[in-house]
Amino acid sequence: MTQKKTFKGIKITSENKCGFCDGAKCCAYITEQLETPRSMHDFDHLLWQISHENIRIYKDDEGWYLLVERTCLHLQKDGRCGIYDERPHVCRQHSNDYCEFDAPAEEGFDLYFHDFDQLTTYCKKRFKGWGKRFVKFEKEYE
Ligand code: SF4
Ligand code: SF4
Repeated sequence: MTQKKTFKGIKITSENKCGFCDGAKCCAYITEQLETPRSMHDFDHLLWQISHENIRIYKDDEGWYLLVERTCLHLQKDGRCGIYDERPHVCRQHSNDYCEFDAPAEEGFDLYFHDFDQLTTYCKKRFKGWGKRFVKFEKEYE
C-alpha cells in the first residue's frame, strides 16, 4: 500500500494533500464497531440493517463494522471543516499519511457487503439451512 506522490503533476505533501481530495472522503461516512456476528440470528439482524439506504457492513483485522455513508454536516463546500477548532477527537486522530485519498478503504477489508444481496449470498454459504431459518426461529419462540 503506497501513498500517492503527485496529483495532476503537483507534488503531494501532508500540508497540501487534503486540498486535492474531492469532497474530503474521510468526512463522508461514519463507522461503528459491531459485536462479532456468529449466529443466524446475528446475520439476520445485519440483513435488516443493510436493507437501509447507505448502510454497508465490513470486517477487517479489528472486527466487524457498520459503515454509514453520510457526509458530515460540518463539511463546507470548499472541503474544509466548519468546526475545525471544536472538531471531535476522532477527527483529530485521523492522519492523512495514508488515507482514503490514496486508496479506497475497501482495499483493507477482509469482507465487504455493499447491499442485502451480497450479504445474503454470504449467509447462504456460511449457514447450512439458511433458507429455513425462520422455521427454526419460530420454534425457539414457542
Ligand atoms: S485526510 Fe485523506 S481522505 Fe481526508 S480529506 Fe485529507 S486527503 Fe482526503
Ligand atoms: S467534524 Fe470536521 S473533520 Fe470531523 S468529519 Fe465533520 S467536517 Fe470532517
